[in-house]
Amino acid sequence: MVEKVVIIGSGPAGYTAAIYAARDDLDPVLIRGFQTGGQLMLTSEVENYPGFPSILGPELMDKMYEHVKTQKCKIVDDDVIKVDLNNYPYKVYTTEKVYETKSIIIASGANAKWLGLENESRLIGKGVSGCAVCDGPFFKNKDVVVVGGGDSAMEDASYITKFAKSVKIIHRRDSFRASRTMQDRVLSNPKIKIVWDSIVEDILGDQKVSGVRIKNLKTGKSEDIPTEGVFIAIGHSPNTKLFYGQLDLDENGYIMVHDFTKTSKPGVFAAGDVQDKVYKQAVIAAGWGSMAAIDARKFLSEQS
Ligand code: NAP
Repeated sequence: MVEKVVIIGSGPAGYTAAIYAARDDLDPVLIRGFQTGGQLMLTSEVENYPGFPSILGPELMDKMYEHVKTQKCKIVDDDVIKVDLNNYPYKVYTTEKVYETKSIIIASGANAKWLGLENESRLIGKGVSGCAVCDGPFFKNKDVVVVGGGDSAMEDASYITKFAKSVKIIHRRDSFRASRTMQDRVLSNPKIKIVWDSIVEDILGDQKVSGVRIKNLKTGKSEDIPTEGVFIAIGHSPNTKLFYGQLDLDENGYIMVHDFTKTSKPGVFAAGDVQDKVYKQAVIAAGWGSMAAIDARKFLSEQS
């Protein structure tokens, strides 16, 4: 059996694509992956998704999933391990099954980046974390640091102050990249201090984190800051390994699209953070998802 459309991913882009494709009678197969829900599952409060003045990220994703379940959509909770985009119909391999399909919507999203220090990977789960929402509550009355200067760093720092005694944000420049509102929230929080113009050179500690060695890029001086927690919040990289050599990707690995959601292969569309390195917002990813489903429908109708 050849499917009309297979959707890869279960963030706002994948779920919206599934809703639109189902309503267009495309009988979509939605492969959610084992880590369902995308990045909003690791977010706390979301205050910028229309219709929801304040909602927790995982709760918003649950609501989207419930919506998808009302539609005629085959939901597969399995990981995609391989795709074949060099032969048509295309093939999408999961750990259990191979799906042949006329079109594909890729909505596999992006993941948090790490600093790449040896002690960072060694101490993950022992004080080093990439997820404030998951690990923040472990740092009650502790001193922690957050690395980064974007919205993620602001959000993480604010959230962790609910638990920690103090939070230092270590940022490599002398101004933040984050939105004004998020910056203001951080700058007015008495528990948060900013360490400007500094990078983390090393993470200290044997069995668990005991501090960070930072270097001031303006003075060249290094100093050790005692801390029990290091939260890394320095951005994201797209989940595109499956498509290396089969689709055009940019220098950072994002899927290159033209005419809105079209990739370099006919019938293969990309939606959300896997191709959007600029806006990276849930509401925008949802919009891309609907666009990709509409584009897939047009592609399929032109075929028949
Ligand atoms: P981002 O905007 O790309 O910011 C990454 C930050 O980390 C930048 O300040 C960057 O410094 C710094 N950085 C990057 N690599 C580094 C390294 N190797 N060492 C030290 N610092 C490094 O990423 P993000 O904060 O994850 O946000 C991504 C997108 O999601 C944004 O569009 C943001 O608006 C959105 N977002 C929204 C919300 C919300 O609205 N609730 C929450 C989180 C994220 P430079 O500034 O010097 O480049």
